[in-house]
Amino acid sequence: MKEKTELVPCEICGYPVVHYEYGGYSYCEKCGWRRGGDNIELEQQWGISYPMLVSLSHAREQYKKGLPFKADFDEFIKGLLFYSEMLFDYQGETYEAYLYRNKNVEPYKFVFCCTEFQQEYFSEKDFREKANILGKCLKDIWNEVQDPRYM
Ligand SMILES: [Zn+2]
Repeated sequence: MKEKTELVPCEICGYPVVHYEYGGYSYCEKCGWRRGGDNIELEQQWGISYPMLVSLSHAREQYKKGLPFKADFDEFIKGLLFYSEMLFDYQGETYEAYLYRNKNVEPYKFVFCCTEFQQEYFSEKDFREKANILGKCLKDIWNEVQDPRYM
């Protein structure tokens, strides 16, 4: 049997998008947003959305201002706690952050790496303040970071 679909308004701009019976939505052709599941609940519980990462209310602000959707550093960290493996691009390189779970490092450690280096942090606070690319803290260069996303 063919999967049923219906048109529903995009949760950002209101343009019609396809909702598939077995879950998922099409990309919005007008604003580029994509809805996975319940982004209101995800924002309340985790402070993010899926699969776009940037939270729904933040995305609506960005859309109103004519800005592209982009998660801020705080949302990136929340996404990391939610999903465990994240990526972003910076000056042509792809960087990865993930949570390493092991009984010796309860509850987990934060690993930040690329092909050139690996950094490890034992608290969210340390990761937030110290994760860096060649000495430049991520929090300070986030404006230049591109496409923070789930892995
Ligand atoms: Zn839209």
